[in-house]
Amino acid sequence: MPYVPETELKILRRKHKLLRQEVLMYQRVMEGMRRNHSLEGLLKTVIQSVRKGLGFKRAGVFLLQEDGKSIHLAMGVDQAGRFEKDKDRQPISSRRGENVFSDLISGHQKFFLTNQVDRRISRFYPNSRYRVSVLNNAVVPIQVGRGRMIGALAVDNLMTDRPITRSDVSSLMNYATQAGLAIESHWTHERILNQSITDPLTGLYNRRFFDRALNQEMARCQRYRRACSLIMADIDHFKRVNDAHGHQAGDEIIRQVAGLLRDNTRGLDVVGRYGGEEFAILLPETPPHDISSVARRILRMARQMKPAWRPMAKDGQRVTVSLGISSFRGGMATVAEMVRRADKSLYLAKQSGRDRCGAAQVLKGPVRRPSRGR
Ligand code: GH3
Ligand code: MG
Ligand code: MG
Repeated sequence: MPYVPETELKILRRKHKLLRQEVLMYQRVMEGMRRNHSLEGLLKTVIQSVRKGLGFKRAGVFLLQEDGKSIHLAMGVDQAGRFEKDKDRQPISSRRGENVFSDLISGHQKFFLTNQVDRRISRFYPNSRYRVSVLNNAVVPIQVGRGRMIGALAVDNLMTDRPITRSDVSSLMNYATQAGLAIESHWTHERILNQSITDPLTGLYNRRFFDRALNQEMARCQRYRRACSLIMADIDHFKRVNDAHGHQAGDEIIRQVAGLLRDNTRGLDVVGRYGGEEFAILLPETPPHDISSVARRILRMARQMKPAWRPMAKDGQRVTVSLGISSFRGGMATVAEMVRRADKSLYLAKQSGRDRCGAAQVLKGPVRRPSRGR
């Protein structure tokens, strides 16, 4: 075996230890990605593993706002190991020296390694040549593809703890890249998931999601003998809007009615775009006698609504909707039956002059305590 001087051996051991810690941290992040379905959970894993892996007292992940104008501490852990989140918002500026994060983004600095003790001493003794080298604060960028920065990873130790070294920083930078990939993959996953259940024009749930929600809710109602209701809404004489003002106007009105429905239902209700200018609202825990007040409110608000398309508003035109409702109370009805009944109710509303709600179609069955509050 070749002779290796002791000091070199020490350095090799230290490097080896650092590498092992890095690999362990990567493993933890990967595990965190697999286990956590929320960004919060993922960030906690990122922070805990960097804190434990490299022995820092405090650690935090700062994330850039989507518009790139500010950055904030998305998740951090303090000296005592307590988590803190959504604080310390700071503006991003192109001016050099404005703040640490701005300098990282603009590329003025690749990382920050600060000697706070040194800073303090020079504050008290500006002309002193006495320097204490305790480097105890580091900030590195979190980058993703093509060096795009999405945030920063910050760590620090108390002045009395071990100093943060250059090799710590290099480990941190590698780790931050890994964390960045994990965060970005989480965002991508969220975005795709959202797109798959959202109607792009209105931002409401799409038909696929709505059908699934209705299926689940009816199964729940059957199992626990609860009540739920369904409202179908269709804009009256919508073809005329398209014909007279064009499709863009039509789209604007569809968006406006979607907003009206969302604003006049509870958070628990599921509002979806069912087809062209047709909407569906699922109201869990809502028996038939409670649904008519919701329907009346929707009709009233629609009548009062000033069309979002200016020429229509100028002409004093109004948009009205017709509603159909069905309710379910236990029993054995299918989803198709529930929708068919609501459609029938809507048809009755259209037949009898529009701008109204058709008679409720109730699929009967025993029900426990009915309740609905707003
Ligand atoms: P009714 O009162 O009987 O409902 O009359 P209506 O004119 O609303 O009749 P209907 O529901 O059959 O017409 C729907 C029209 O909505 C037909 C279609 O051209 C239009 N439409 C469907 N989807 C969209 C869309 O996404 N944007 C726009 N601008 N128009 C749409
Ligand atoms: Mg229609
Ligand atoms: Mg219509």
